[in-house]
Amino acid sequence: MDYSKPIEIAPNVYWVGYVIPDDPFQCHVYLIKNGSESILIDPGSMITFPVVLEKLNSLINLKDIKYIIMHHQDPDIVGCYSTFEKIMPKNERYIVTHWRTEMLLKHYMWDTPFYLIDQHNWKLKAGKRELEFVFTPYAHFPGAFCTYDKKTGILFSSDLFGGLTDEFSLFAKDVDDYFEAAKPFHKHYMPSREVLHHALKQVQKKHPLMIAPQHGSIIKKDMIDPLIDKLKELECGLYLLDDYESDLYILNKTDEVLKQFFKDTVSLSSFNLVLRNLFDNIKKVIPSIQKIEICGISPLSEVEHCFSFGEDHKIVEIDHMDENYSFKKELKQNDKKIGDIYIIINKNMNKKEKTLLEMLLNKISVPVAISLEKELILRELEDSNKMLYEKSISDPLTKLYNREYMKEFLSQKVQEAKRYKFPLSVAMIDIDFFKKINDTYGHLIGDCVLKELAELLKDNFRGSDIVSRYGGEEIFIIMPFTDGINACKKLENFRKFVEEHDFCEKKRIKITISAGVSEFDFGEDIEDLILKADRKVYFAKKQGRNKVVCDKGEGSDT
Ligand code: GH3
Ligand code: MG
Ligand code: MG
Repeated sequence: MDYSKPIEIAPNVYWVGYVIPDDPFQCHVYLIKNGSESILIDPGSMITFPVVLEKLNSLINLKDIKYIIMHHQDPDIVGCYSTFEKIMPKNERYIVTHWRTEMLLKHYMWDTPFYLIDQHNWKLKAGKRELEFVFTPYAHFPGAFCTYDKKTGILFSSDLFGGLTDEFSLFAKDVDDYFEAAKPFHKHYMPSREVLHHALKQVQKKHPLMIAPQHGSIIKKDMIDPLIDKLKELECGLYLLDDYESDLYILNKTDEVLKQFFKDTVSLSSFNLVLRNLFDNIKKVIPSIQKIEICGISPLSEVEHCFSFGEDHKIVEIDHMDENYSFKKELKQNDKKIGDIYIIINKNMNKKEKTLLEMLLNKISVPVAISLEKELILRELEDSNKMLYEKSISDPLTKLYNREYMKEFLSQKVQEAKRYKFPLSVAMIDIDFFKKINDTYGHLIGDCVLKELAELLKDNFRGSDIVSRYGGEEIFIIMPFTDGINACKKLENFRKFVEEHDFCEKKRIKITISAGVSEFDFGEDIEDLILKADRKVYFAKKQGRNKVVCDKGEGSDT
């Protein structure tokens, strides 16, 4: 495409602009050739004027320009007009604009009279041609509008659909690429999402066949709807993000990361996921980020907890944060410090990345603080719930399980043993002549013996066995996956062990135990099973104590 010449974008509609070298902000001028009622759209600046004038002269006689549309009053649109007006042959001619624009343009004291679109039912009839004006207030000027040429279906959109392009291309080639060019432009140029939405809706009502913006590239029919759909998603008013930051890259990236982070965070309940999400989103814009560490003090217990999430994508609880952090930021909520966030980077960042990271940390500190505080409180509640539960199922003196828990556990294990056909045995243990211990040494020593016996039981039985305090000096043991013979051997060994053990250190107290061991018989219920073991204890006592009575074999009661 030869941009040094006018380019006919539709029959009798020409691009007559000038490609400003190395400028991402190109400003287009269009001409609708319409006999003696030709229309010039956004005449342009003093930079573009010489070339625009040359192109216009090559297409028409300047006296035939009857209407000059000025979509708003910016210098890139009207800057040339004071000069242009002087060299135009005198003829009937109008500046077509909105009253809001006219209020400002009148200060140039041009001779050309105004045609105010809002006073002409938003229409202009130029010979056989009819133009309709689409009011797009605040996008980006209060009196902003677009011009729709009914004959060709072209919508001259002024700043809407503009883009900042690295390389000049009169026509947009790809929706996604052009959206990337249009995105930053709209996000900071348009004041709000509502304003942009309204303008895009008004444009869509016209069903344009082509959109010719003042900046960026012309958009052909197939790309219009997909592009509008994407533009409708944009958050605008980018400068509101920060009071003084004016770097568009930083504002734009901050907005992108925050938007994604907040979108994901709202739906995430756990702190782990919030941390993972934060890392992933920052990584997208600062690839050298290696790790995020967050430390917080529990509001109730005041214990410090630190979490680390990094490139290996695992959340680890750590004792202390890494000393080699690049950034640290306090996490505060309502002026109350909740903790700190540390960012660890694996190489030096450039200035832009630093500014971006600082800005992101400022913005996310409150939601992360809230999530962290919630996590710490939840943990403490879980811990105290666990403590309460453990209390409720254990015996305070021996710390063995209590009888209630033992029964619950036994009925559960009995069900499992029936279903999966595994053996299960139980044992009842009773200390021999325990009353005498109390009588001889006192209750405290009696307690000491009981506690020590409990320790020995914990040490000598498997983790999967349940040792419980059944009554005063009676212990009940559940041994899943153990048949009667093995259970019997186990208890016999333990009996010998107790016989040889010196209890309560210096006191060197000697005790013996009697025990009854029973294997679960698939037909019986748990009360029968307990009773069976208890009865064997009775037999053991009868046979002289310090004895284990089992179902079969040595020591059997049968
Ligand atoms: P046997 O060989 O027939 O079992 O004799 P025993 O003296 O052990 O039996 P008995 O049932 O007559 O007495 C049990 C004693 O256990 C009575 C009670 O004071 C003592 N006892 C029960 N619970 C505790 C406890 O928590 N601490 C202490 N120190 N003694 C307890
Ligand atoms: Mg007893
Ligand atoms: Mg006893």
